[in-house]
Amino acid sequence: MSDQANPFRIAQQQFDTAAELLNLHPDIRAVLRVPQRELTVNFPVRLDDGSVQMFTGYRVQHNLGRGPVKGGIRYHPSVDLDEVRALAMWMTWKCALVNIPYGGAKGGVIVDPRQLSLAELERLTRRFASDVSILLGPEKDIPAPDVNTNAQIMAWIMDTISMHRGYTVPAVITGKPIQVGGSLGRIEATGRGVSLMVREAVHKQGRSLEGLRVVVQGFGNVGSTAALLLHEMGCQVIGVADAAGAYYCASGLDIPAMRTYSERHTFRLLQGYEAPHMVPITGTELLELECDVLIPAALENQLTGENAARVRAGMIVEGANGPTTPGADAILTARGIPVVPDILANAGGVIVSYFEWVQGLQEFFWDEHDINSKLERILVNAFEEVWQLAASRALPLRTAAYLLAVQRVAEANATRGVYP
Ligand code: NAD
Repeated sequence: MSDQANPFRIAQQQFDTAAELLNLHPDIRAVLRVPQRELTVNFPVRLDDGSVQMFTGYRVQHNLGRGPVKGGIRYHPSVDLDEVRALAMWMTWKCALVNIPYGGAKGGVIVDPRQLSLAELERLTRRFASDVSILLGPEKDIPAPDVNTNAQIMAWIMDTISMHRGYTVPAVITGKPIQVGGSLGRIEATGRGVSLMVREAVHKQGRSLEGLRVVVQGFGNVGSTAALLLHEMGCQVIGVADAAGAYYCASGLDIPAMRTYSERHTFRLLQGYEAPHMVPITGTELLELECDVLIPAALENQLTGENAARVRAGMIVEGANGPTTPGADAILTARGIPVVPDILANAGGVIVSYFEWVQGLQEFFWDEHDINSKLERILVNAFEEVWQLAASRALPLRTAAYLLAVQRVAEANATRGVYP
């Protein structure tokens, strides 16, 4: 993989930009530039036909300076250590930006879950959870869902850790089903946050959401929820894509029908969905559709130095982590297209995960209105801070967000000092 596409090199480059602008001390810079802990596990899983297959997984803890670490677990064939390192580092900045008391972590297993039966998926999950359990705990490291993992998988991880301990440990993981200590509003939280960030950014431009043309790449947890909420707020979602195809309708797609369809189908794909006036397009065409807001909500490296000049969106709001490379950032900035960065735009998930963890520790649960209003307050405040800093120093929103986040993490680490 070239350095331009390596997510960890990209994450380091983004950090370096902020460190330069903050004039960060070289000692702190060296500490924050690399992950604190990395665990690689190679583990066997018995398949349904009786054979045994080896899998590789990772858990990376980037920085523990501000508290226990937090970050999702991804199942995908293209997972590798550098991707997990980057995702862990981005989690550190995200938690600091929205000021919740966590450091950043991430986990991943190299697997295409579409190739496994449900029973095999459960055995893989429980064995991976066992092998990384030396790192996990409510006071140490609290995973959550990410690409291709969901509430059921979180429940298996919680159950596995609880079996090891001999008692139920709900706060060891978030994104759990409600019936085992999950939080109301957690499943929708990331997409809800994305929709709120679209609303705030559009209002700053003096525009309304009514009839706003939105394109969403990725129709999973984040993308489909953001699409649905924006549709309900009056936007016209004219294009969506998932791993199997992309769909366009100039007068607006029927997002509720597409959500219902995808929920009923394997791996929530839209394959086979048909509607009048809707035409299939390619994933490349989707990213280049003329629209007001483009929401990449799938994987990293979607907007690059190669295609950014062809993007015809008025604004980008990053649902995914790392969808825009620094090369693309430079082009979009030069073209005057604002990018609401991932560490702000998709922070809704970790904010409600924080609420879930607090509720689990207290064994006292809040109602959904309470959760959504607390989420909105934290996110809108963070947006305002980033927007003001960007405006006052004429910086891109990503740089402003990094300045705020890296400064907080640097201060925490400097205050704690170097042990021993
Ligand atoms: P998911 O597995 O629920 O959905 C992923 C979606 O992307 C699916 O619709 C899949 O078909 C689609 N996809 C995969 N490859 C694609 C491609 N090449 N082109 C178009 N679509 C493609 O995952 P998710 O939880 O929605 O996560 C999506 C992104 O959001 C990831 O970057 C993740 O790290 C980030 N994120 C997720 C959360 C969360 O709470 N789940 C929180 C913050 C950030």
